[in-house]
Amino acid sequence: IRTNADTPEMAKNAVMLGAEGIGLCRTEHMFFEGDRIDTMRQMILASDESDRRKALKKLLPFQRRDFAGLFKAMGTLPVTIRLLDPPLHEFLPHDDTTRRQLATKLGLTQEAIADRVKALHEENPMLGHRGCRLGITYPEITEMQARAIFEAAAQVGKLKKPIKVKPEIMIPLVGFKTELQNQVDIVHQVAREVMDKKGVKIDYSVGTMIEIPRAAVTAAEIAEVAEFFSFGTNDLTQTALGLSRDDMGGFFDDYRNREIFSQNPFASLDQGGVGKLVETAATKGRETRKGMKLGICGEHGGDPASIGFFHNVGLDYVSCSPPRVPVARLSAAQAALK
Ligand code: PEP
Ligand code: MG
Repeated sequence: IRTNADTPEMAKNAVMLGAEGIGLCRTEHMFFEGDRIDTMRQMILASDESDRRKALKKLLPFQRRDFAGLFKAMGTLPVTIRLLDPPLHEFLPHDDTTRRQLATKLGLTQEAIADRVKALHEENPMLGHRGCRLGITYPEITEMQARAIFEAAAQVGKLKKPIKVKPEIMIPLVGFKTELQNQVDIVHQVAREVMDKKGVKIDYSVGTMIEIPRAAVTAAEIAEVAEFFSFGTNDLTQTALGLSRDDMGGFFDDYRNREIFSQNPFASLDQGGVGKLVETAATKGRETRKGMKLGICGEHGGDPASIGFFHNVGLDYVSCSPPRVPVARLSAAQAALK
């Protein structure tokens, strides 16, 4: 059992509850703290790559410190770090007062901010410019995040009591092997640069989330590039069922009452549908890459019935939020005994 944890505090809590690693660190949560959000906004509002890089340079030490904190909290336990995933407009202010303050702080006009917010607007953000699509269009974001991870790993490796970490870097929302290859190349390049500069060797792996049906059915190809898979069953459920978690409120009760759905598919895995995709991807992935590490980090990682299913399809771990770790441990133990 691993925990989904985004901060050193969450990680410590998870370990205290019996987690044996972190299966998902959602790095975007690190950008909201204190006045980092303003630097993040500066990066998003930048008009060209050079300005974007200036803002990213300011974000680097914050990310590096966060990752070092996470590594210290986890010791040698595995930590899977996911690169930036949400659409960028989620970071921008939508009210006039905050926009006015931001304009003053960044020396921009309020109109310029409003224009950028408008330009970033999407009709279906869940299927829009997010996940690896961000790192592909703005490779400098991936570079900064990878640099922060490797520099943090080098740093904790040089402590008085050195910690030898093996970061697992995870690329989100991949549907095509070519998307993954694009991002993996950047990560390897940065890894080489940091290791040369610091004179250290860092053991790391790069893998992907499987959260788009296309990734699941082409898992054999994707595994040629991915060193591990982690099933993002939240997005996989949304995309496989064509069902938005945020928009099902209007009909979900009817579906339950008419017994069309026997359960909420976002709480307990739709084993007959989404589960088939998981099973297919697990089998195909391991056909290409024998013994490949497989996990799951969607909400289902804390659901007893789903945990039983994941055990049966041979996943190596489930990852869930810290408070659910004890239930997940019990369910995994029961599944193993069965
Ligand atoms: C998922 O899609 O299952 C996942 C873990 O990612 P997120 O919920 O952050 O999109
Ligand atoms: Mg997801």
